[in-house]
Amino acid sequence: PSTFTHEFNAPAFKAKVSFNTGLFINGQFVDGSDNTTIDVINPTNGKVITSVSEGTPKDVDLAVDAAHAAFDTAWGLHTPGAQRSILMSKLVALMEKNADELAALEALDNGKTFNWARNIDVAGSIDCIRYYAGWADKITGQVQETTEDKLTYSRHEPIGVVGQIIPWNFPLLMMAWKIGPALACGNTVVLKPSEFTPLTAIRMCHLINEAGFPPGVVNVLTGYGNTTGNAISSHMRIEKVAFTGSTIVGRKIMEAAARSNLKNVTLELGGKSPNIIFDDADIEQAVNWAIFGIFWNHGQTCTAGSRIFVQEGIYDEFFKRFMEKTRSLKIGDPFAPDTFQGPQVSEIQFNRIMSYIESGKAAGAKVEIGGERHGSEGYFIKPTIFTNVDPSMKIVQEEIFGPVCVLIKFKDEEDVIKQANDTLYGLAAAVFTQDLNRALNTAHRLKAGTAWINCVNSFNSNVPFGGFKQSGIGRECGDYALTNYTAVKAVHVNLGHKM
Ligand code: NAD
Repeated sequence: PSTFTHEFNAPAFKAKVSFNTGLFINGQFVDGSDNTTIDVINPTNGKVITSVSEGTPKDVDLAVDAAHAAFDTAWGLHTPGAQRSILMSKLVALMEKNADELAALEALDNGKTFNWARNIDVAGSIDCIRYYAGWADKITGQVQETTEDKLTYSRHEPIGVVGQIIPWNFPLLMMAWKIGPALACGNTVVLKPSEFTPLTAIRMCHLINEAGFPPGVVNVLTGYGNTTGNAISSHMRIEKVAFTGSTIVGRKIMEAAARSNLKNVTLELGGKSPNIIFDDADIEQAVNWAIFGIFWNHGQTCTAGSRIFVQEGIYDEFFKRFMEKTRSLKIGDPFAPDTFQGPQVSEIQFNRIMSYIESGKAAGAKVEIGGERHGSEGYFIKPTIFTNVDPSMKIVQEEIFGPVCVLIKFKDEEDVIKQANDTLYGLAAAVFTQDLNRALNTAHRLKAGTAWINCVNSFNSNVPFGGFKQSGIGRECGDYALTNYTAVKAVHVNLGHKM
């Protein structure tokens, strides 16, 4: 397999990085069976960084073979939870040791800023694996009281080989959210990162080897969705698939699972999250959080607060301050220390977002700021605020997944809750107010898997995350995720009952 080499020369990270790429199957880096590759593009300048192997359905078969062999001999029921916990803790230590490199790879490959990558993506990934390392020896069944001549108990067994398909917006963090609970519960993994951002997943495979995981416990195949991804979701010997990505592809995953072996499915999908700001909110804080809500990670956040509802009494003041703050956001090189926003991840996403912006303009919405590309190279888009929108517009209904929001004035609680819930998504929602009753009442009435009060985009490894409605099925993080990766077996022991 080929080697990726890059000389980083950023203020925060100066180093030459070099590692083998290739498909990671049974603890080895190997070429794809067709010997084809995928170019990895630097979104800051549109140039090729490197190319990685393209997995084929045949490679997925090989990875599944390796994962089954590992499950049957070296992992699953063959390795005590305490031993899994030790290996996961070793991985945590290696991630900490290489944290700056992981952040630099994420910034290079995805375009997110080095600082956010280091402080959120990498720190959050480390925290997640550490959290699940703590669970590995605490997964227990129950004893059910039945009759005195019988002992009945349940075992929470690992499922077996699980497939995991992840997106490009938080490449490392989504990998951690997936492998953390899967490994803690004793499953073996066949994971596919996004074809746009494979580098941190490949680097993690080196750390997984270094930590001493048995070969085949984690297998990572770089490849495209409709080939490698589809081979995973429709595989007859993969018992569960976990997917994070768009709602359109989530539907395909579920169909493939249904058509093949009815594998268990969990889905983390898109969103169009409302961010509601009441008259009595701390306006400065509401502005700061609203900026973070929509423009952080360049709007490429499934929970992005892309519909901002502001109550009429403070609308004008909020608008003025929100515009000022948006104007001050620095766009540019992800490695420059003061950059807030880097490029969108790819040319496809750039074009997709620009076409949403055009559709908003054509439908009569007003661009208050932004609405165009930034600079002349790379995939930068200026933070964009639309006003004068109505609920029928695509920019109000559909997930844009870019630095684009709509600002909507509302009258009262009833009015805003109705509008906020008028979406097929239900991933997250936020409410800003100083009134405790109003905060909690609104949070409870919003149809979303996460409700934030006086904050947005706040996540913890031990707090469940997932969507209502078409934003997903199942919950990641916390002990909730353990149920995705365990099969419950009831055991009945006859203590003397005669037939
Ligand atoms: P995507 O759905 O295009 O791709 C996600 C992954 O699925 C990629 O690895 C891709 O290669 C693969 N894939 C594509 N087609 C496939 C197929 N037919 N079969 C199997 N796999 C296939 O999404 P994306 O553009 O990478 O990511 C953006 C989307 O992810 C947004 O909609 C965003 O809201 C969502 N997202 C959701 C969460 C969450 O937790 N709810 C988190 C992050 C991102």
